[in-house]
Amino acid sequence: MKHIVQFSGGVGSAMAAYLVTQQYPKEDIILLYHDVPDGQDDDTYRFNEDVSKFLGIPITEVSDGRTLWDVIRDNKSLPSIFIPFCTRVLKLEQGEKYYLSVKEPFTIYTGYCFEEKKRVEKAKEKMTRPTEFPVYEARLTSKQCKQIIANEWGIKLPRAYKYFEHNNCIPCFKSTSYEYWRKVYEYFPERYQLAVKAEQLIGHTHFKQLSLFELAQLFKKNKTYNSKITISQYLKIKHNNEIYSDLFEEGI
Ligand code: SF4
Repeated sequence: MKHIVQFSGGVGSAMAAYLVTQQYPKEDIILLYHDVPDGQDDDTYRFNEDVSKFLGIPITEVSDGRTLWDVIRDNKSLPSIFIPFCTRVLKLEQGEKYYLSVKEPFTIYTGYCFEEKKRVEKAKEKMTRPTEFPVYEARLTSKQCKQIIANEWGIKLPRAYKYFEHNNCIPCFKSTSYEYWRKVYEYFPERYQLAVKAEQLIGHTHFKQLSLFELAQLFKKNKTYNSKITISQYLKIKHNNEIYSDLFEEGI
């Protein structure tokens, strides 16, 4: 019997792996990781290695090989909260490929935390294979997992947690919050630039009313000149076709 942990780079999946090691021999546990090159933050690889060493279990990687941006280009569309095809192609399909190759019975373990009740319920409705939710069942919140990993295991948390709730891709196209994208613009400008290029390549914008390029101009203006223009003010200006000549500059 094998025990396959969906090992994502987040604190929940690290804790799930740990809880599974408390019940089963290490040689029967698989830390299954699907990479999203140029999407996953670089510090995720360091964190995953640290956790793998701490648990004494190697990481099993099964990946598509394409970057997040390759998949966007190949699909000729941008992912969204409604159509997160990047997850399907780069994670779910890779998982399926691996599960089909396993020749003995197995259980899958996810890292949903105690506050993710809705996600757990949704996963239970959809699951087609034996799946367990050890972190959720142990009633451990994300905050508690972070404290245990940082203070008891002595492992530095992935840096993405300084800015975001989850250690997802940066950027994650499932996010519809301007504040999220502001943080990507501010702390991960190269990734923001890749998203701007993806919009220009696809000819479609992530937000309905303004492009990421325009949004970057607002972020830049507000940061550099301290003359704040809110997004709703900008949309009104845009809607009324008013000219705001110094708003747009070269580059983001
Ligand atoms: S974390 Fe976000 S961007 Fe990355 S694969 Fe999942 S949905 Fe896509």
